[in-house]
Amino acid sequence: MLVLNATFEPINVCTVRRAAVLLLKAKAEIVEHGQWELRSEHTAMPRPVVIRLMTYVKVPRDTHRRKITRRAVFARDGWACQYCGARQNLTVDHVIPRSKGGSSDWTNIVASCAPCNRRKGDHLPSQAGMHPRCKPAAPSPNVFIHVASPTIPPAWRQWLPIATVADAA
Ligand SMILES: [Zn+2]
Repeated sequence: MLVLNATFEPINVCTVRRAAVLLLKAKAEIVEHGQWELRSEHTAMPRPVVIRLMTYVKVPRDTHRRKITRRAVFARDGWACQYCGARQNLTVDHVIPRSKGGSSDWTNIVASCAPCNRRKGDHLPSQAGMHPRCKPAAPSPNVFIHVASPTIPPAWRQWLPIATVADAA
């Protein structure tokens, strides 16, 4: 279930059950629905595929605090090594090595292929002459949507600006 903010900006993925609760409480509306109905004892509603919250929520800007996972790092970095562009044998690399005081947050972790990671080893980017192609930063909410739902239903695509991430995977 894709959840859009009141502004139609995608923010989240939730379960059908959660979506049904939001819809029953009139906290959300259905933007796209599927073919079958959700039925309970008392009600039936079209199965939601994309819902939109009725009131704007300010959640999306805290992505820097969201848990860092390998998949989220890879998705943010377009499933490509940030040093050479390779798409295979991806690992995560601390740009400033932990042994040199590098932090384990979004601004210091990038996707790196295993060979680049080995080559860079315990060196600073300047020592190794290896700098990430993009300055690492907290990802946009869309990245987490792609991570939470590896296969993006066609009905979601028009709402997600970066469909290429899933395609590249
Ligand atoms: Zn590489």
